[in-house]
Amino acid sequence: MDIQKHHINFAVGPVPIEEEVAAVGGDVIPYFRTADFSALMQENEALILEAMHAPEKARAVFLTGSGTAAMEAAVVNLFTKDDRLLIVKGGSFGQRFCEIASVWGIPYEAIALPNGKGLTQEELAPYENAGFTGFLVNMGETSTGVLYDMPLIADFCRRNRLSLVVDAISTFLADPVDMAAWGADAVLTGSQKALATAPGVSLVALSSRAVEHIYRGTPCCYYLDLKAALVNAERGQTPFTPAVGTLIQINKRLNLLKEKGFDAAIAQTKAHAGYFRRGIARYPFTVATDSPQNGVTPLLMQSALSAHTLFEVLKEEYGIIVCPNGGALRDTMFRVGHIGYHTEAEYDKLFAAFDDLIARGIL
Ligand SMILES: *Cc1c(COP(=O)(O)O)cnc(C)c1O
Repeated sequence: MDIQKHHINFAVGPVPIEEEVAAVGGDVIPYFRTADFSALMQENEALILEAMHAPEKARAVFLTGSGTAAMEAAVVNLFTKDDRLLIVKGGSFGQRFCEIASVWGIPYEAIALPNGKGLTQEELAPYENAGFTGFLVNMGETSTGVLYDMPLIADFCRRNRLSLVVDAISTFLADPVDMAAWGADAVLTGSQKALATAPGVSLVALSSRAVEHIYRGTPCCYYLDLKAALVNAERGQTPFTPAVGTLIQINKRLNLLKEKGFDAAIAQTKAHAGYFRRGIARYPFTVATDSPQNGVTPLLMQSALSAHTLFEVLKEEYGIIVCPNGGALRDTMFRVGHIGYHTEAEYDKLFAAFDDLIARGIL
């Protein structure tokens, strides 16, 4: 069955993979308990830490699981029922952090923000010196395309001595990530977002403080135990069978990125976002945030057409996948991604589809 292989894909994950990366890790999957695979994994760890501007003695471990595995691993390995977390809840990914804390019985308070709104000092003020121990934020709240002010959050955490966990799953390699400057204890990402490889792997970068905390502790869980992951990664291995093919793609991708400089990937995504946002201004949509991330543009419908119907029509009649929203935003909002391998010509095809839909009286 050919499922949508030939569509133009503007989803925010999995995203289009560049040819040289797609060519590896797909057909022949090598055995992994070998010195060769260990060397590849150690290179992956070093390149990730470099790209994240990680501080001295930071570590990164790769988990087999989607981005949510990294979110849950960070929460349960760094915090317990004795902690009190502050969670930025600006959309469904902030909500996910809240649900993870709930499931594990870790006390938290959510800073609930309206869709599309950035975080300001005003919203943080009530939580100064209030006895919290950890701060969880989705740097980019991908569900509504919002980028939060990381320097503001980092200052707040430093002042209040909070351990900062940054979900950079849709922002790493799309917006600047500076783990050292932010003093973050954990930064998370996943393979199928801006890393632009197959799904199946997520990763947690940890400060030396977080690493020491985990080494001192007892395992909180089994599969997502970061102590086991860290100990195994000392020799370039993983406790369990990893998504070998995806890790090989990650290695190829990181090496290609390093050749051009990691900042070039951010600049490319930003350029595509800019190209799209300039072009979209003449169509009946408004950009749904005052603080957009580079990787995705959230759009609110300004015509009678349902956003979900637009998603269906673009897919069925034009071979273009945009990213639908769910829940309460289903009919009013959709998103167009800029992470992964894209060209301006693809955006032109999307604009041409909008022109055609207007000419047909649908949009
Ligand atoms: C995609 C994403 C995740 C993880 O989603 P998975 O489906 O588990 O990969 C988490 N946080 C953010 C901000 C994301 O964009």
